[in-house]
Amino acid sequence: DDVVTTTALVKTYRQGADEVRALDGVSVAVRRARFTAVVGPSGSGKSTLLHCAAGLDTVTSGSVVLDGTELTGLTDRQLTRLRRRRIGFVFQSFNLLPQLTAYENVVLPVTMSGRRPDRERVDHLCEVLGIAHRLSHRPAELSGGQQQRVAVARALVARPAVVFADEPTGNLDSRAGAEVLTMLRRAVDELGQTVVTVTHDPAATRYADRVLTLADGRLAGDEHTTPDDTLG
Ligand code: ADP
Ligand code: ADP
Repeated sequence: DDVVTTTALVKTYRQGADEVRALDGVSVAVRRARFTAVVGPSGSGKSTLLHCAAGLDTVTSGSVVLDGTELTGLTDRQLTRLRRRRIGFVFQSFNLLPQLTAYENVVLPVTMSGRRPDRERVDHLCEVLGIAHRLSHRPAELSGGQQQRVAVARALVARPAVVFADEPTGNLDSRAGAEVLTMLRRAVDELGQTVVTVTHDPAATRYADRVLTLADGRLAGDEHTTPDDTLG
């Protein structure tokens, strides 16, 4: 059961007179309820892959299928809707709204779509993520690690098909970073969520089921630690 599939994905950018091949034929399938880390040197195409897979950027050629929907050919409006309904995002910079409490931040994707949050489910999610006792605080009153766990809860609250995390530990010390990685791991193991993270953090690879390595826009490595994911 694959949640995200890219086939022969190519993405080129124009830089003045030059054309940069940020992705040069990436084919990869990500299975449901797995934690995948995407690593590689700076400029290897990690962010571009994440952005193309999440429908934040259009592809030059090839295809992306997310939760059964082919993204190429969708209008901006359709992509926005698909992102809102089926994708959770976690960023390096947390991106919480400072005037809202942690609880209000967590339920934002639900309230924004005009629904009422299921308090029991939200409480369970926040228990799993270790922030249940911080829900009435505003972001400024929380540590960086707590803020990022609130951001993880927000990314998960609407039960997206996949959560994309872009350097989720980049602004955290190693202890807070380890906590956030533990929470992403729990999201997979206890909540059945699918997580794909781009990371420079060597610790992140220890939490992942699979480590994809990019080099010059190509897949240069694909290591599985979940036995039934192992190819061949
Ligand atoms: P990584 O995330 O691994 O650091 P990126 O995906 O950000 O790599 O970048 C891959 C390549 O694409 C780099 O050569 C980068 O300079 C280029 N690139 C990325 N985004 C743009 C852009 N918006 N315009 C032009 N070139 C870009
Ligand atoms: P940083 O790495 O500095 O934290 P972000 O990861 O927050 O930056 O942003 C990465 C990119 O994703 C930016 O181009 C931003 O505009 C875009 N972005 C952030 N949030 C969303 C969203 N909810 N929907 C669509 N695009 C987003």
